[in-house]
Amino acid sequence: MSRKTERQTGQASKGEDSPSARAASLREILNRASHEYYVLDKPELSDAEYDRLFRELQQIETAHPELRSADSPTRRVGAEVQSALVKHTHAVPMLSLANAFDDDELRAWQDRLVRIAGDDIARAGYSAELKIDGAAVSLTYEDGVLVVGATRGNGTTGEDVTANIRTVRDVPLRLTNAPRGRVEVRGEIYFPFDQFERMNEARVAAGEPVFANPRNASAGSLRQLDPGITASRPLRFFGYAVAFDDPAKLPFKTQSELLGALRSWGVPVAPHALRCRTMEEVTAWAHRVEHELRAELNFAIDGGVVKVDSLRLQDDLGVVGGREPRWAIARKFAPDIAETRLTAIEVNVGRTGQLNPYAVLEAVEIGGTTVRLATLHNEQLIRDKDLRVGDVVQVKRAGDVIPQVIGPVPERRSGSERAWRMPSRCPICNTPVQRDADLAAIYCPNVACPGRQLEAIVYFASRGAMDIRGLSYARIEQLLDADLVHDVADLYAIGVDDLLALDGYQKKSANALIGAISASKSQPLSRLLTGLGIPHVGETAARLLARHFGSLKALSSASAEQIEAIRGLGDVIAQSVASFFHDPSVRSLMTRLQRAGVKLDEPTHVAASGALTGQTVVITGTLPTLSRSQAAALIEENGGRVTSSVSKATTFVLAGTEPGSKLDKANALGVPIIDESELFNRIGQ
Ligand code: NAD
Repeated sequence: MSRKTERQTGQASKGEDSPSARAASLREILNRASHEYYVLDKPELSDAEYDRLFRELQQIETAHPELRSADSPTRRVGAEVQSALVKHTHAVPMLSLANAFDDDELRAWQDRLVRIAGDDIARAGYSAELKIDGAAVSLTYEDGVLVVGATRGNGTTGEDVTANIRTVRDVPLRLTNAPRGRVEVRGEIYFPFDQFERMNEARVAAGEPVFANPRNASAGSLRQLDPGITASRPLRFFGYAVAFDDPAKLPFKTQSELLGALRSWGVPVAPHALRCRTMEEVTAWAHRVEHELRAELNFAIDGGVVKVDSLRLQDDLGVVGGREPRWAIARKFAPDIAETRLTAIEVNVGRTGQLNPYAVLEAVEIGGTTVRLATLHNEQLIRDKDLRVGDVVQVKRAGDVIPQVIGPVPERRSGSERAWRMPSRCPICNTPVQRDADLAAIYCPNVACPGRQLEAIVYFASRGAMDIRGLSYARIEQLLDADLVHDVADLYAIGVDDLLALDGYQKKSANALIGAISASKSQPLSRLLTGLGIPHVGETAARLLARHFGSLKALSSASAEQIEAIRGLGDVIAQSVASFFHDPSVRSLMTRLQRAGVKLDEPTHVAASGALTGQTVVITGTLPTLSRSQAAALIEENGGRVTSSVSKATTFVLAGTEPGSKLDKANALGVPIIDESELFNRIGQ
């Protein structure tokens, strides 16, 4: 466990604290941690540390029942929902799990069950499953069709994230062969490691904050207000539970059969689930998962979940304290932390020119993988952690595929360690570096810096930006090496013959790539803005800018004040955009893109005219084919204006399934209500 975090969270101060004071302080620490973890998706404590403090509080409350309080974290699931998303009340509460940290605790759990249910426990056996470290969701299907997707929230009330869930490719929109009626599938949304690593690298390069781990990335991505953002994140799903209106009609009687049924309905189920007859089989399975299988997985797990296999017995055993089922337990694994020496701190240059320091480590084995490099993100972080070259450091991989340096082990310092400073010149092109306004990031300001171009073109061509299919990392490297491109505008000057002169191209592949590059010329302005890699401008900011200004010309001559006036954009983005377009090399890039035929404008927020000109529309519920943001874009493209609340001024309400109170209000005010197909009629599509 991290010595640093132990110091940060404080141990019971050698008997000085009374149990009541300690319990109060633990509650405060745990409540704050839960808020950071569940609401902000930005934990400051490690999970192991949280679990240790949670256990300490449980022990105090057991020894001193008078200290129990209804608001204790030991009595709650998750945290209260605080987002702007619509709330969803779960038909059956979504619970947490009790923890077992070793085999003895697993056996003690079994003993407790046997005391209650006797031999039935041995007869039932167990289902042992991976404990996916993602975000729990509930998916409601009606007659096999997905109608609602919701987060767990505080277990009773979650957030309605149906539109976001629909963008997760693993989640079936229609189940195959599922029973008729209302079926709820529960499971975990997760972020695969490889994709997580790619996304964080891109965020560092864009000057955006990185996600601490794939779990927070899944939860954060799922709880976006704009489903377009969720869609751009490669989320996946595993199912592990089912609830049904009429349990007697369910075609299974055990948890292991339930997993089989989920598969047959088209729901992905995590690998390595095992039906175990005895606790010995369970512990052997848990050891194999922890020490062998875990390292091979492309997703984070924080343990295994052991469940009594018989569903009838599960029902009999019930729930403890309203928080956790008695019939299941999480077998938590030790966090993957190791100590090694930090031999150097080196720097690479990202696509926005940001200098990213990384740690070079003496090779060390963590969780079955040899680690030699770890991210350090920025200079401030190195200073905050007081990392010095030559330090023995703690490195962790728990739930993070990109190893992270937790901090130094000061007790092991010899005095020869050296403080580190960011170079004052770019290590690639030697240009003096510049500091970002918030001082966290340092940039190479040279737009033509060769270190930036590879990453810049990769980003420009990526799915969320210009989406140039077939323009892979390796192909971009090859184009740079062959001197065919130096920046993104050069892409549009490449011809089929240029590609045919390179290794690995045939006529068909060369034509396909040139076709894809050419097709990207008509991408919307928002994608071009994303692709340009303006520091701090991600997909959402790009969309707001494109909608507001409508053309690159208008945007490039806007002042920081004009940009800051747009709702949703702050001064950091405004300054960044204004100074980006001030740069003469950026202006010449714009001219070259324009000459190449790249589309540099798109309809502004309210189109000049269209079938919906002058009309005000409110959208509610889930539409059959369009996401809300797609519907809003369509309405705006046709001259309409989308607002969030119904009033007498509303021309019509566009309603889908599960509409909210807006529909009632529309009915009360006599505002017309139309569906998606009527919208298509009205705009002539
Ligand atoms: P939990 O994550 O330990 O266990 C319950 C959850 O496990 C379920 O809700 C479900 O989402 C998930 N799960 C994954 N695979 C499953 C499977 N096969 N079957 C059933 N469920 C499965 O409990 P929790 O209440 O979500 O969170 C508590 C944990 O969260 C703590 O133990 C701690 O590790 C972490 N936490 C950390 C901090 C922090 O600051 N680092 C703060 C709060 C919570």
